[in-house]
Amino acid sequence: MTAPRLEIDLDKIRFNAASLVQRLAARGIAVTGVTKVAAGLPAVANALLDAGIRQLGDSRIENIEALRRAGVAASMMLIRSPMPSQAQRVVRHADASLNSELAVIEKLSHAAREAGRMHQVVLMVELGDLREGILPADLEAFVARVLRLPNITLGGIGTNLACHGGVVPDRDNMGELTRLANALEQRFDLRLGLVSGGNSANLDWALGNSDVGRINNLRLGESIFLGCEPLHRRPIPGLHHDAMTLVAEVIESKLKPSRPHGRVAQNAFGEIPAVHDRGRIPRVILAIGRQDVDPAGLQPPPGFEILGASSDHLILTCASPCPRVGTELRFGLDYSALLRAMTSRFVAKVAHGTHSAMSPPRLRHCAP
Ligand SMILES: *Cc1c(COP(=O)(O)O)cnc(C)c1O
Repeated sequence: MTAPRLEIDLDKIRFNAASLVQRLAARGIAVTGVTKVAAGLPAVANALLDAGIRQLGDSRIENIEALRRAGVAASMMLIRSPMPSQAQRVVRHADASLNSELAVIEKLSHAAREAGRMHQVVLMVELGDLREGILPADLEAFVARVLRLPNITLGGIGTNLACHGGVVPDRDNMGELTRLANALEQRFDLRLGLVSGGNSANLDWALGNSDVGRINNLRLGESIFLGCEPLHRRPIPGLHHDAMTLVAEVIESKLKPSRPHGRVAQNAFGEIPAVHDRGRIPRVILAIGRQDVDPAGLQPPPGFEILGASSDHLILTCASPCPRVGTELRFGLDYSALLRAMTSRFVAKVAHGTHSAMSPPRLRHCAP
């Protein structure tokens, strides 16, 4: 088979998604399945829908369009604010979008009217992480203007934490979102369908003991695909942690010194490698590099240690005997490694899934 390749186990993804859907349903929370780290692969989207997920989310309109072309009919939400220049594509292919700028929503309104469609907006509120979001103090005035726009419906409000500032979802910020939802409903005499509390980083909070208040939706990607929660990169018990793995091929395997010789300055990436002398060690080179994956986010197979990576080479050492040239090695990935591998055109994506009986998940560490 072709290498390097990302192997995607659809059965494990379906299992993880179904498990999270069930656990969250018990707390009154529905899941929007976020496909962005899967580059909008239709097979992955269908696995999420099979698991009982009703709405898909992606940050790229290109991915949503690809899903539509593949015949995926589910409700879809663009989870990054639309670019004004893409308003027409957004109203045509996405049912809803997350928004934080009136100028964008005005464009969506205009495009939706021209297309004879309705578009649902979910307003993002800034609750501390300082990525996207309307300041809470500005929310009422913002909503008043949105409600006047033709062909736009207010689907609800949401927030996003732990992505930029590393702010932890907790009783305080989630309570604030609940208070804001209640206040808007009173002030404007309406009902907000969606109160979307955040992403996989919200799971500790959502599955813990606190009252979830009005939060009735989470947008989940990483936890479904990697079985990890992103705050401490701990494995979520009962989920598969190896639904996505990366396979690469050995192109050189030799015993060589552990330390470079000659005068040492910066390497290709502006780093000065610090190496201590371990004598001669096995050095294995795989045909994969920074063009394909984030090497820092790779979990090598047992007995292997990653020494470094350049654009096209990944260098490892291992307990001898070393694998022969042509051997394939399999790696676990973290979010960053997965994202880059998924979007590299040099990495083949191979999805398999059989609906056959699966062994129960084994608890592992999260990569790396
Ligand atoms: C990426 C993203 C998500 C999903 O995050 P995960 O950590 O993969 O669960 C949710 N919401 C927004 C706005 C995002 O950008």
